[in-house]
Amino acid sequence: MGKNHFWLKCPQCGHRFLYKGLVTACPRCSHAWLDVEYDYDALAPRLRQLLESRPFTSMWRYRELLPVLHDENIVTMGEGGTPLLHSQHLGMMLGHPYIYVKDERQGPTGSFKDRQASLAISLMKENGITEGVLASTGNVAISYSAYSALAGIKLWAFVTSTVPADKMREVALYGTEVIKVTATYDQTKEVAARFAQHKGLYLDRGIRAFASRQSMKTIAYEIAEQLGWRAPDWYIQAVSGGLGPVGVWQGFEELYRMGLIPNLPKLASIQVTGCAPMVHSFRKGLAEVEPVLNPQTLIATVATGNPGPAYPFLRRVVLEHGGAFEEVTDEEAFRAMRVMARMEGLSMEPAAAMAFAGLFKLIQKGIIRKDEIVVVNCSGHTFPVEKHLLDEEWVHSLELPSEMVAEPGPAVLKEEGLLASLERLDDRVRSVAIIDDEPDAVRLLRRIIQAKGGYQIYEAYDGRQGLQLIREKRPDLVLLDLMMPGMDGFAVLTAMKEDPQIATIPVIVITAKDLTAQERRWLSGKVESLLQKGSYMDLDALDALVGELSTAVG
Ligand SMILES: *Cc1c(COP(=O)(O)O)cnc(C)c1O
Ligand SMILES: [Zn+2]
Repeated sequence: MGKNHFWLKCPQCGHRFLYKGLVTACPRCSHAWLDVEYDYDALAPRLRQLLESRPFTSMWRYRELLPVLHDENIVTMGEGGTPLLHSQHLGMMLGHPYIYVKDERQGPTGSFKDRQASLAISLMKENGITEGVLASTGNVAISYSAYSALAGIKLWAFVTSTVPADKMREVALYGTEVIKVTATYDQTKEVAARFAQHKGLYLDRGIRAFASRQSMKTIAYEIAEQLGWRAPDWYIQAVSGGLGPVGVWQGFEELYRMGLIPNLPKLASIQVTGCAPMVHSFRKGLAEVEPVLNPQTLIATVATGNPGPAYPFLRRVVLEHGGAFEEVTDEEAFRAMRVMARMEGLSMEPAAAMAFAGLFKLIQKGIIRKDEIVVVNCSGHTFPVEKHLLDEEWVHSLELPSEMVAEPGPAVLKEEGLLASLERLDDRVRSVAIIDDEPDAVRLLRRIIQAKGGYQIYEAYDGRQGLQLIREKRPDLVLLDLMMPGMDGFAVLTAMKEDPQIATIPVIVITAKDLTAQERRWLSGKVESLLQKGSYMDLDALDALVGELSTAVG
């Protein structure tokens, strides 16, 4: 050990080359999905023997099949090495004696994402990356944050506002910058990507990064070993973006290719009814996925509306080897959650319970037979961070204009996204007018903007004064409070729009008001963006955004 070597291979053009350092696309054809290959001929005859001397306590037990060059770059906390539990009561209840639970709750942060984080952060470390950006439906942010803390890497986590506050708190507890985006997960990913691009920061590419898929392989290796060197007949997992089953499949395939297992499993990917693009696309016989633009589920963890490349991959696997795409409702997942807690003593988060609800359904439908060996991934149970551990100001909020939320889709975002509009502003913004009746808020905004560079700053403490200021000074950007005595922000906006001289000056609304849908609609065409006030951290969100302006300008 000490040093590993392996190759990257492009599935599109077949180009294969020795890995020397991080690459995100094929150097020949620019395909953004690369697979990893190892020296299988050398490994196959000695792998089982190598493993016999190693403890079953971490996924790094499979070191030779993981793509990190040097051992000293491995960032590990004992992820992987989770038990495979033979379910007693459930098996009896269902009349299926061979149901096993791969207990991924037992990772360091409580979900199977710990495998992904360990490998991804190790690769960041090995490549000298000290700051990174990611989008997450919760658990990736938690897990990466923990491993980043260990590796001394700074993270920016963009999460959707539907992620439970408990989870966001945990992310903040690790010292990650949490940006809560009021939009769908797919839009949140776009915003994170733009932010990373704009700041020149490393962006985690999720399933498109080979680190993500390679980490998930280790689930397959462990299951094969735990079953006595064979694959189960069925492998079932709750699916959002589909990374889990894609990676797990690649693991079983590798073992099969090396002759270490005699069979490949049937994959069952379980989605939630309110966000089941793969299930519906498969039923329709589509080769590419039809995204869900407006996910409707309480289970935020699995709200990926556009799983992208995972779908054609999994579809091919199911068509060639058997398997299923199945959907379950929120209620069915919650019921499965109660059943698993009561029958097996396994408490799990709703996203994990979906896999069990899917199991029940596939058994009911007679798709899974009694004599088949079934492994269900109990993918996680992340723990709640109690409120009092953090003060009130641990999250940045970022709202997209309501028209974008009402009509989501990457195309809309590309044209009119928040960061996009700010990018367009960059080189124009030299002067900023702040209009807010709270002197403290004005002072803070001023301090933030001043700290960012040489802006001319104008201030007004009510709407009438503010409007006059805008007409006189013609600032490049207006930061506008909505609730002010006398002439409020809405009135200021109306007056601005009616005056052709100042109608086009971009406005960022900063408000403590809980806006009605109607107000949002009214504002949406008229302002660049909307930031929620009420805590200093929200102003820090503005800080971050204004920061983008200044780095470009100054
Ligand atoms: C991420 C996650 C899922 C969905 O996994 P994907 O591989 O992204 O589809 C399911 N359950 C839990 C607990 C998760 O954290
Ligand atoms: Zn290629």
